[in-house]
Amino acid sequence: MHHLRDGKKFIVKIDLHTHSLMSDGTDRPSELVNKALSQGITTLALTDHDTVAGWDEAIEWLRPGLDLVLGSEISCQTEDGISVHMLGLLFDRENQPLQQMLAQTRDNRLGRMERIIARMNEAGIEISLAEVHAQLSDGATLGRPHLADALVAKGLAKNRDEVFADWLANSSPFYVAHYSPTPEVAIAAIKAAGGVAVIAHPLASLRGRVVSIESFDSHIAAGLDGIEVKHRDQTPEQQQLLFDIAAKADLAMTGSSDYHGTGKMNELAEFTTDPAQWEKLESRANARRIMRAL
Ligand code: AMP
Ligand code: ZN
Ligand code: FE
Ligand code: FE
Repeated sequence: MHHLRDGKKFIVKIDLHTHSLMSDGTDRPSELVNKALSQGITTLALTDHDTVAGWDEAIEWLRPGLDLVLGSEISCQTEDGISVHMLGLLFDRENQPLQQMLAQTRDNRLGRMERIIARMNEAGIEISLAEVHAQLSDGATLGRPHLADALVAKGLAKNRDEVFADWLANSSPFYVAHYSPTPEVAIAAIKAAGGVAVIAHPLASLRGRVVSIESFDSHIAAGLDGIEVKHRDQTPEQQQLLFDIAAKADLAMTGSSDYHGTGKMNELAEFTTDPAQWEKLESRANARRIMRAL
């Protein structure tokens, strides 16, 4: 996609969904910023699960040429128990209700991990909380991938994918949910903090049950700003369906990598967002919060 900046043509590459080791990615925020710069990405969002812990390091390593979008992928659950991920971008980090919501989810992830481990131990799988914590960076959001890493480190599995397939899928007997806000509550919290809300991979059925098409109505009523249309876990048919919903409701449509370093196959910017869609999304934040190095 060509754009003009300072009278010069340049290629725009916008990736609005990535993870660092402040959640279950494997790159430091600094490495993520450096990779984005060296791969010619022009806009990168850092969206670790339920945290803003990577923001400062990403800002510190920012250099000219990259627009940094700070955000978080918020774990949500519908009243029917369906897991939904909501990307919050460009929100004010000083907003306390949003930070409290994220903190509550992170706190709950610990007890939830203990319960998953207890179930595994009962089934004869020898793994401890300490071994899981050994896989977690300081200050990072604890998740199933760290348990997977601990099982791999013990030689009990080959990689994260194998652990998810054999033991940790949302449908498996070892699966335990943690506290999460509903998608509507998360959207309202993001909006109240001045940010924009984009529902992540809404039809990625690989992850388990997904929301119904009708449920977008209540997300839109709550203030949803965009839909992640292009994502590796959604088929072309699903992407078309989401495109139609976004077009009808005048929502922004995004495409992104959901990059996790070596934690997943996803390559940075394997899917990208159209610049016009990004402009539309960004304009819906209550202040201009894109970070740029001088
Ligand atoms: P949790 O947040 O603890 O429920 O863990 C869910 C996270 O695990 C998702 O956000 C994904 O990033 C990751 N995940 C899910 N399935 C897989 C998989 N097959 N391989 C690697 N990571 C996965
Ligand atoms: Zn993840
Ligand atoms: Fe996700
Ligand atoms: Fe993600």
